[in-house]
Amino acid sequence: MYNYPYKEKDYAEVLLKKGFTSNHINHELKILGKYYKSVGKDKDEIKELIESFCKKYLKKYNRVTHFKMLNTVLGYVEKEENVLVQIDSVNITNNEVEYIGSLDIDHMYKKLLFTLLVLDKLNKRYNEIRKGTVDLEHYFGGGAKYRELSSTSHVKFKRSQNIHIIIGELAKLGLLEIKNKGFVKLSFVYEIEESADVKMVIKDFQNIGLYYDLHTEQDKVKQCECCETPIKVKSNRSKYCDNCSVEISNEKNKEYARKSMKKARNKNVKGLEKS
Ligand SMILES: [Zn+2]
Repeated sequence: MYNYPYKEKDYAEVLLKKGFTSNHINHELKILGKYYKSVGKDKDEIKELIESFCKKYLKKYNRVTHFKMLNTVLGYVEKEENVLVQIDSVNITNNEVEYIGSLDIDHMYKKLLFTLLVLDKLNKRYNEIRKGTVDLEHYFGGGAKYRELSSTSHVKFKRSQNIHIIIGELAKLGLLEIKNKGFVKLSFVYEIEESADVKMVIKDFQNIGLYYDLHTEQDKVKQCECCETPIKVKSNRSKYCDNCSVEISNEKNKEYARKSMKKARNKNVKGLEKS
């Protein structure tokens, strides 16, 4: 979808176009508020814009009953660290891909390390945007991070396996180091020599593992024919990523509507000619 929390500008643009996309009204209004802040609107303007958005898209919007909600959203948006985050892509260098590729471990483990590397870069960029801090260490963990790792890595677990067991195995190999409070030190990242070249550009943060599959030419993964994002091949008809499929089918519907309108018009003209 919108690669939340990394592509909030994209998210806000969808909201502006279509209205709320979920039941998380508060959450989506906060995104919208941050968006208005990012384009230079002041406190009063943001309040007005959010109110008119609510009037337009919330059926039962009422200034009095929604007073508290609006205040919560505005209070959140006002805080300095709550800025709109938009990370379009993350670059991977040749050294990084080669290092992971050279390890004597299963593809699945490599894919997981690759995903950890990308998430580490994303996380750093995210903190830089929100807090202005540059963190030189490489740690992973906290909150819902392991769930994110499982889903975006596309690693398929065998029975009796789970993400924590695999992390434990990678720690035994010295590639990771288990720390306190659910954190893991990404020891392997420290082994990779830094460079500035770009070997891969990761844009879809919900399918990070698929980039590694594509790079290593695994079966059942290919590039979207429209935007080159890696996709899972589900059938012979798999051609486009979810985003492009939606856009293409919208275009086709419009095209169809145009054609049928033209047909109807021609029919009318012919009908007139006959009479
Ligand atoms: Zn696409």
